[in-house]
Amino acid sequence: MIDTIELESLLPTVSKPARYTGGELGEVKKDIYSADVRFAFCFPDVYEVGMSHLGTSILYHLVNGVDAVYAERCFAPWPDMEKALKDAALPLYTLETKTALCDFDFVGFSLGYEMCYTNVLTMLDLGRIPIYAKDRRSSDPIVIAGGGCVYNPEPMADFIDLFVVGEGEEVLAELIELFSVCKRENADHAYFLSRAAGIEGIYVPSLYDVTYKKDGTVKEITVNEGAPMPVHKRIVSDFDAGFFPESPIVPYLGVIHDRVTVEVMRGCTRGCRFCQAGFIYRPVRERSADTLIKQAKANISHTGHDEVSLCSLSTGDYSQVARLVCTLSDDLAGTGVSLAVPSLRIDSYEGEYAQKLKEVRNTGLTFAPEAGTQRLRDIINKNITEKDIFSAVKEAFESGTNGVKLYFMMGLPGETMEDVLGIADIAARIRSIYYEVPKEKRAGGFKLTVSVSCFVPKPHTPFQWAAQDDIAVFEDKQRRLKDALRSVKGVKFNWHDARLSMLEAVFARGDRRLSAVLMNAYQAGCRFDSWKELFDFDKWCRAFEQAGVEPAYYAARERKYDEILPWDMIDTGISKAYLWDEKMRAEQAATTPDCRLGCTGCGLKEAGLCL
Ligand code: SF4
Repeated sequence: MIDTIELESLLPTVSKPARYTGGELGEVKKDIYSADVRFAFCFPDVYEVGMSHLGTSILYHLVNGVDAVYAERCFAPWPDMEKALKDAALPLYTLETKTALCDFDFVGFSLGYEMCYTNVLTMLDLGRIPIYAKDRRSSDPIVIAGGGCVYNPEPMADFIDLFVVGEGEEVLAELIELFSVCKRENADHAYFLSRAAGIEGIYVPSLYDVTYKKDGTVKEITVNEGAPMPVHKRIVSDFDAGFFPESPIVPYLGVIHDRVTVEVMRGCTRGCRFCQAGFIYRPVRERSADTLIKQAKANISHTGHDEVSLCSLSTGDYSQVARLVCTLSDDLAGTGVSLAVPSLRIDSYEGEYAQKLKEVRNTGLTFAPEAGTQRLRDIINKNITEKDIFSAVKEAFESGTNGVKLYFMMGLPGETMEDVLGIADIAARIRSIYYEVPKEKRAGGFKLTVSVSCFVPKPHTPFQWAAQDDIAVFEDKQRRLKDALRSVKGVKFNWHDARLSMLEAVFARGDRRLSAVLMNAYQAGCRFDSWKELFDFDKWCRAFEQAGVEPAYYAARERKYDEILPWDMIDTGISKAYLWDEKMRAEQAATTPDCRLGCTGCGLKEAGLCL
């Protein structure tokens, strides 16, 4: 454990010291000397972001459910705290027992966003763990990673000992069990890793070799020592019975999602062609309304939160949404606890639920049409029509809502300037709809937020082979749209930094050669790259240059079907042929129906993952 007196003296010198103290309600306390296995869950962003991450909360409480295992938390220190720790010669430590990361058996990172990778290196280095996996000895922790980014683990392959592909609930238990056995046998890490590779869902990168062709594409991925090829993702098949914490930690600081969150379902059947989550988290598995109501009530009584959120990729598609919303809102009436419900298409409900849903839906209206024209929405398989958008906003305006938020993407495959400017046409039409509503029914003034992100092609989607627009093209489109929106009064336009989206595209589809870039960027001081105030693009440009890596090769290059992709060792259960077929259908602007209406043959049934 680190010197807490010294720690106490440095905390008042940094911003938001409560990020680094621990001791919150719901924190798990155990005797470190009776724990056989010690696990540090590390989140490569600040406390406020990490404490809102449901996956980390689930795994923290699940692992702590085993008596012999003690799991603790650690978040990325803000640069002022990083400096303070270095100045005081203190290592990065966990909140529960103030133990240095290097003293754990496992250090596990959640990788949900590519631009957190340099923070992982910071945390390893500050935690006194060798940054490169090859430099670690058996006395160092096993460094593991999970989360959405590990569906292409390769840019981080040199830094991580093993990746958990898919949902970690069952895999972690098996991994810890194997570790205990190896510890009793005094086995070294190399032996443990070779056996861990035999657990379904585990990818040990050091057991795979990658060679490259002269043109830079992957020549071959070879497997050593009988490790699996490909590695199949794991899922929790009985999701209703799956673990969910009853008593989550109540954060000390105002965090991003300061409320009770229940997980309604996993997966999505809609098949939007740009959406990685929609493919990697298939198949859809739901919790029953009764289970969710029980979990929500238990969480409220243990935490004292005053809001419950129903979380999933598409809560409106949950088969028992009307019953869940109505029963929960009735049960919570008069308790001071509100229900946050995403935009629901209430036209699909009739009878007893319709009126109740109208009363509950009071959190403003948010829509993600993603593209400005129907042609482009068909290309991306976003089954939302202008009629859907316009009738929903009309209804919202008539019931007194004045704030509407719309989310779009720019640079989608097949996009023309007409599609970009179509976003301004939608905004103008929504403004007209607002003024068509009788004055006495309108609330406040007209307010519309249009947020436009830059399309990033992601692995395991039909657009995984697509080229990304380059930065200049994105910036030109942003300028043209901004000009077009100037004539629509009451619209707030938000857009993404195209330079950051380019980097995201590089690391989303990158390979092992990018580890040198990450190391250079880390050494140059790149931290918290998704935070505007800390993002330094020039440092990244130099990091690429020093490593001799051309970012456009990864971001702006269209791939062919027969190219070996760096992430081909990872199997989501969805066949490559299906993804390619979806890409072909996109080129014809042909839509594919929601697979709840009939299986569209993505491959999960053959893989035994979808019933
Ligand atoms: S196997 Fe069929 S039903 Fe299952 S997720 Fe794939 S397309 Fe949908």
